[in-house]
Amino acid sequence: MTEQLIYLNDRFVNKKDALVSVYDHGFLYGDGVFEGIRAYEGNVFRLDEHIDRLYDSAKSIMLSVPFTKEELSELTVETLKRNQLNDAYIRIVVSRGVGNLGLDPSSCRRPQVIIIAEQLSLFPKALYETGIEIVTVATRRNRSDVLSPKVKSLNYLNNILVRIEANLAGVSEALMLNDQGYVAEGSADNVFIIKNGEILTPPGYVGALEGITRNAVMEIASGLGFPVREQVFTRHDVYVADEMFLTGTAAEVISVVKVDGRTIGDGTPGELTKKLLKEFRKTVTTDGTKVYPAHDNTLPQ
Ligand code: PMP
Repeated sequence: MTEQLIYLNDRFVNKKDALVSVYDHGFLYGDGVFEGIRAYEGNVFRLDEHIDRLYDSAKSIMLSVPFTKEELSELTVETLKRNQLNDAYIRIVVSRGVGNLGLDPSSCRRPQVIIIAEQLSLFPKALYETGIEIVTVATRRNRSDVLSPKVKSLNYLNNILVRIEANLAGVSEALMLNDQGYVAEGSADNVFIIKNGEILTPPGYVGALEGITRNAVMEIASGLGFPVREQVFTRHDVYVADEMFLTGTAAEVISVVKVDGRTIGDGTPGELTKKLLKEFRKTVTTDGTKVYPAHDNTLPQ
């Protein structure tokens, strides 16, 4: 097995050589942005949307990505090719770069760009069949007017605090409320509930990342003729929902069957959730950017 290649600034390097300075402000201050992307059977699912979101995040924090969107997309595809990957999790990181110890980003001369593509360690298949249990945690979502959750920044402490609480509670994900007590999102997933056939998810302003999986699932749902809309809701609405699921690049569409000890629906993944997962998995191999274009979608020999 050849060593994994990582894109670092201007070249591909072996994993063991993919090292950055301790003076990088991404390390010192969490000053930077990132994306988590997935490739399915040689198709980078919604790569353009991920690249757009990365550039929006960067613009919001006045970080200039030293590539055009097209160049960064090509480098992402190239990272998959160099590692001979068809199915992968891809991480793009753009940090403020190396500066001095002060937090002022003007000491950082050049942003660092890192692209990592790895074989996926998938969520255990059984979880999609049983659904997961989650709890509401005390950690609240960053207020949108303080640090917008729409910015996918390297400052993930808010989410990490949620994950710590989830670990302490012995569950794999958790529900995060915003400062007003409305349901915002999970630590790394968007939240949906279904009530009387209607699919609801909190609007962005409540405090959630505009998930690319979330958008895809909303499109799939309306394409299938199911009413779907953004709606502010509380924990009570979650408790009395017929079905609940989370969406994310890693999680895909995963059913939630218990929240804070309350059983959702009949305690098994709901029919509509299962249908949406099935449709989602159909689209992920075609909706996006092909790693190996034209007819040959297989690994080179
Ligand atoms: N919310 C947060 C905080 C996340 O980190 C993620 C994962 N990127 C999501 C939601 C889901 O977004 P996506 O579907 O784009 O992966």
